Amino acid sequence: MLANDRVLIIHSYHPQYAWSAAINKGITEALRPRIKPEHIYIEYLDNRRFVQDQVFVIYITQLFRYKYQAFKPDVIIASDDYALQFLLKNLEIFGNTPTVYGGISVHDFEKEPAPLHYTGISEGSEIWGNLLLIKQILPNTKTIYLLSDHTPIGASLVSEAEQFLKDWEDETTQLDLIFGLTRKGLYQLIDSVDENDAILLLTLNKLADGTYFSFSEDLKPLTIRSKAPFFGMIGAVLLGQGVVGGWMSSPEQHGRRMAGMALEILDGTAPRDIPPIGKAEFRPAFDYEQLSRFNIDHKALPPNSLIVNQPRTIYSDYKNYVLAGLLVALWLISIIVVLVANVKKRQSREVSLSEVKGKLEEKVALRTQELSRANKQLSELNESSKSQALTDFLTQLPNRRAGNDYLQSLIEDGLNPNDPLSIALIDIDHFHALNTEYGHTEGDRVLIRVAQLILQAKRSQDFVCRWGGEEFLFILNDTQSDTAQQHLNQLRSEIEQANIVDKQHITVSIGLATSYDTDKWEQLHQAETMLYKAKTNGRNRLCQVNIPANTET
Ligand code: GH3
Ligand code: MG
Ligand code: MG
Repeated sequence: MLANDRVLIIHSYHPQYAWSAAINKGITEALRPRIKPEHIYIEYLDNRRFVQDQVFVIYITQLFRYKYQAFKPDVIIASDDYALQFLLKNLEIFGNTPTVYGGISVHDFEKEPAPLHYTGISEGSEIWGNLLLIKQILPNTKTIYLLSDHTPIGASLVSEAEQFLKDWEDETTQLDLIFGLTRKGLYQLIDSVDENDAILLLTLNKLADGTYFSFSEDLKPLTIRSKAPFFGMIGAVLLGQGVVGGWMSSPEQHGRRMAGMALEILDGTAPRDIPPIGKAEFRPAFDYEQLSRFNIDHKALPPNSLIVNQPRTIYSDYKNYVLAGLLVALWLISIIVVLVANVKKRQSREVSLSEVKGKLEEKVALRTQELSRANKQLSELNESSKSQALTDFLTQLPNRRAGNDYLQSLIEDGLNPNDPLSIALIDIDHFHALNTEYGHTEGDRVLIRVAQLILQAKRSQDFVCRWGGEEFLFILNDTQSDTAQQHLNQLRSEIEQANIVDKQHITVSIGLATSYDTDKWEQLHQAETMLYKAKTNGRNRLCQVNIPANTET
């Protein structure tokens, strides 16, 4: 919240005067956060242009008296000597209103102490420091001209300088204090100086011919005309007008300090409790262009020197834009970096995922392979056990179960009345005796051999199996009884001739039943009957029956 405090600023000079403008800028900028803009009153006493003009003084005093009889500011800031003198001369206008003065170089507070409700800053000067500075950066300087005028400030600086002239011991450099010049005299002096001289401007406001010397209008042509470099003490006002530089006070900073004191008073501190400051801050400040003009090495300057008028670079002109651009670029780059990192992470995840997928697929394929192999083995096993179940272990012929299945399939397939079918049972004669005589192993060998001969006799359309111990079933498909008889008798004599057991004829008896459409179990039974007949008829023979015919051979 801005307070309702009112501040009156009284400047000694006019608003266009560079020094006053800079001080005013410093004061108002420092006040603005606390004081409403409407409550900052600014007056200009115009004493640069109306110097020692008594008529003007009468008018302006009357104006102030009239204007401020009703209006009372809470604090007054008086800038420069004339404003202070004006207030001290007319104390009754503002009564006990606290007052902060600044920029004071003439008033002698020892001779004429300020009232208790006054405090402030004396500007002071830096003549000695500037003389040493000129010697430091231009050691070969022959003469330093100290220029001043007859104004109160000028006179005060002259008397100060006179003391330094006495103290100066450097014989290689002369000091020449010059004041009271007319404009013509000033130009003559400037034309007479050469490049080994230097000019220290103490102040120059009013010339001896009564004309006003404007720093902003008259100084620059003078410095251009001069072969010697100009130095000065009033920063902001002199820099930029062709002056090389010097130990300079900053009017802006001076203004800020005065405003600071005024705010302290508004905050409740009595002016007498704020000690006055005896001298402004001076710091080395230079103009880049003039340093270049006089070939002054920047290294020769005091440390922390301020250099104004530096060549403009794109960076200095667009510093904020460049920085903002850089920040945006940095921001974008960091986003890109994060995105790229994410993409890389995702890619590596995808790679590892596809690796895992590949490995999984490999495993699945391997398992599938193993499974199908196991499956195959199982079905092979199944097949072999199936075939084992249907195969006679000893002779490797189909066994009785296979024979039964075969007969059953014949029945289920249906019988063709045009296709004759012969069923024969073949039984080895006196096998028991053979076993007894030669042993069971030899008996087995005989069984195997007989089975081989039977298998050899089997035609493609026929079926054979081991039906019992030493008994075999022989089914001849699509075979008439004659053919069957012939074929089986042929087998019988092959077995007899086979010389299976040394000096021993192995013979078989055969019962054969041929039929077109008889029930197969019945036909088998008939073949059994025929076998029994062959046995009883003396063995080693074939007995056959044609069903329904019953024929014996
Ligand atoms: P027949 O001429 O009347 O047929 O007389 P046989 O001795 O051949 O007939 P029998 O039925 O009296 O005897 C059959 C014998 O066959 C009895 C059994 O010891 C023998 N035998 C059965 N199976 C096997 C076998 O697998 N190996 C051997 N070595 N002998 C067997
Ligand atoms: Mg038998
Ligand atoms: Mg037998």
